[in-house]
Amino acid sequence: MIAAVLEQSRQALVLVPEISLTPQTISRFRKRFQCRIAVLHSGLTDSERMDAWLQARDGIADIVIGTRSALFTPLARPGIIIIDEEHDNSFKQQDGFRYSARDLAIVRARNENVGIVLGSATPSLETLHNALNGRYRHLTLTARAGGAARPLLRLLDTTHEVLQEGFSSTLLQQIGDHLQRGNQVLVFINRRGFAPTLQCADCGWVAECLHCDARMTLHKTHAHLRCHHCDARRSIDRYCPLCKSKQLQALGLGTERSEAFLSRIFPTARVLRVDRDSTRRKNELDILLNEVHQGEPCILIGTQMLAKGHHFPRVTLVAVLDADAGLFSADFRGQEHTAQLLMQVAGRSGREGQSGEVLIQTRHATHNTLQALVHHGYGTFARTILMERQAAHMPPFAHLALIRAEATDFSTPEQFLNKVRQCASQLLGPEGDAAVMLMGPLPAPMEKRAGKFRAQLLLQSTQRSSLQQLLSQLCPELESLKESRGVRWSIDVDPQDMI
Ligand SMILES: [Zn+2]
Ligand SMILES: [Zn+2]
Repeated sequence: MIAAVLEQSRQALVLVPEISLTPQTISRFRKRFQCRIAVLHSGLTDSERMDAWLQARDGIADIVIGTRSALFTPLARPGIIIIDEEHDNSFKQQDGFRYSARDLAIVRARNENVGIVLGSATPSLETLHNALNGRYRHLTLTARAGGAARPLLRLLDTTHEVLQEGFSSTLLQQIGDHLQRGNQVLVFINRRGFAPTLQCADCGWVAECLHCDARMTLHKTHAHLRCHHCDARRSIDRYCPLCKSKQLQALGLGTERSEAFLSRIFPTARVLRVDRDSTRRKNELDILLNEVHQGEPCILIGTQMLAKGHHFPRVTLVAVLDADAGLFSADFRGQEHTAQLLMQVAGRSGREGQSGEVLIQTRHATHNTLQALVHHGYGTFARTILMERQAAHMPPFAHLALIRAEATDFSTPEQFLNKVRQCASQLLGPEGDAAVMLMGPLPAPMEKRAGKFRAQLLLQSTQRSSLQQLLSQLCPELESLKESRGVRWSIDVDPQDMI
């Protein structure tokens, strides 16, 4: 489609989730197209960004590739907009000016009268819904890129097994087999650090963040405890502050711990860890990925950074260590996100002619989500979840807006939101509940974060226009409320993250 647009000497705007995580993206485009390509993302200097922006605006660049904010780049001769991995959460800006680049791209394409393609192997339920009800045209790719066979997904039920550092004996055996055959193995653990919990074996005390309702993660590289929500750090306790016991144990798994364990079990194999900590410095990710692409047998351990857009042609086994955490999330999107992540990770294996195998360790092998994914694939899973959402009047069958408030003292956010609720009820009038339902105020699922207490008020409506009308009347009123003093508040329409 891009080639056809270039042929008409028009420009293509391509949005991708995170360029820094997928350095291959740009080189793939350069290989395929002999034209001017401008790249826009947050890793550029101001003058680099200015250059790219001007090239797009003046029509010098034929293809403009960028992350979410590149959506606002003017184009001299717009031809098409492409959103790659449209389900990805990074298209939603979660702070400051909150917007969904994907949804705004639809508006822009309509205004500029150009085509738009939303691409994904694991479409969001919103987009799938629009495709199924005919608002969007649904196009399906019938073959995988490079002609590889679909990976074979299998569940490894670990219910009655004693695991070694999180690994079942079957899984360790499989990893060994694949290495012996000269292949590469990818181990997926969506948690960085050594262990998510430091606990006292004698009294049960747990190391917590002083500023958040969260546990401190134990890191062994530059040994310290770190909060993954506010980034607070402190040294590792030598003894329990409550009972003075020295029996402190690391509970749970992180990438560092698996790296150490697998290096011990497979001493001759190269073990490479890819997460935000191991790729903090410039080019570190490139160096790690280059090593993988040399093709020597190795074990690649990583977080969701590895799930995005990479091609690992020599990986024949993908092992998902703990699929269960995401299955019981308090967020109604938890299952959708877990399924997308699992399928994206699975898609890394068995490319370019080799068939791949995906082993998912779980203690909930009969769980509907896992069963649907393994036996019927993402499409069937997503359609089942859509029916559940319809029955529960949740998005995409209803529209949500979340009013969040935070303050340094405990009761202020709730007082403010109570006032907001009053204002909203007055604006809605006596029959208001039928148009927009107000829920709360309630404490946020993580009530304290970075030293602030947080509460939220949820607005739900089956009619988007009712919700928008209410918000546009409510917003100016909130700004003048005396209760808003000392409160940081925001309105998030179509919230992606309820935490
Ligand atoms: Zn203790
Ligand atoms: Zn914290």
